[in-house]
Amino acid sequence: MPWGLEAVEHLVLPAECLLCQALFSFHDADRLVCDVCRHRWRPVRAPWCERCGQPEPSFGGCRLCADWPAALRCVRSAVWLDAGARAAVHALKYGALPRIARDLAAAMTGLDLAGRDSAWLVPVPLGPKRRRQRGYNQSERLARALSRHWRRPVVHLLVRARETAMQTALTPEARLANVAGAFETRNAEGETRNGRTGECSAFRVPTSAFERPLVLVDDVFTTGATLAEAARALEQAGATTVAAVTFGRAVIPDFT
Ligand SMILES: [Zn+2]
Ligand SMILES: [Zn+2]
Repeated sequence: MPWGLEAVEHLVLPAECLLCQALFSFHDADRLVCDVCRHRWRPVRAPWCERCGQPEPSFGGCRLCADWPAALRCVRSAVWLDAGARAAVHALKYGALPRIARDLAAAMTGLDLAGRDSAWLVPVPLGPKRRRQRGYNQSERLARALSRHWRRPVVHLLVRARETAMQTALTPEARLANVAGAFETRNAEGETRNGRTGECSAFRVPTSAFERPLVLVDDVFTTGATLAEAARALEQAGATTVAAVTFGRAVIPDFT
């Protein structure tokens, strides 16, 4: 099914940049975003809170990550979610273009996390209903694309315990309530990917998976509520070292 979808994309999409419509050379025909547009994405850079990666307030310490579960140690995002990056995420989530995950993951490969080289990648899961509607989980696509760069396996350790409302229109407090208890852990399948050929082989995830460094993968960081809740579920299953990476980070949320 996944490769089927990709084959269809190849048939229906002209070889041009999804964001600016510039034509690709034959060599780049597998890409969806051109170099010019990628370079317009604004990287998230230090100085930041060492833990959550958010620019620190001018007075006092960071409050954003103060209530996070202890296991969640470090969260980093590749780019600020303004115009071009937002359009790319939109294409990944709502445009039925899972293939764009490769372009987004390419921007995430430089994210620096302690323990990354021994970590397993854990996609943030979707509820079954939304997954059915979309046909795929965008975080899983990102995790798979990243696993080729980092040569780390993807393990499906989390499931949604219940469907949650879309976070987009919610205040920070409502976001917390919305995702509380949203995730459960399971011992499931993992997949490793050959960095060169991209070939995938499945393996049974041992219970000791939770003793490893784990890296949650999601598309966007807004308040961190979803990642914190996902990390809490991993922590309850025994994880002590959880990091998280996202492609985009919402420009300082303005809920006033
Ligand atoms: Zn472009
Ligand atoms: Zn922080």
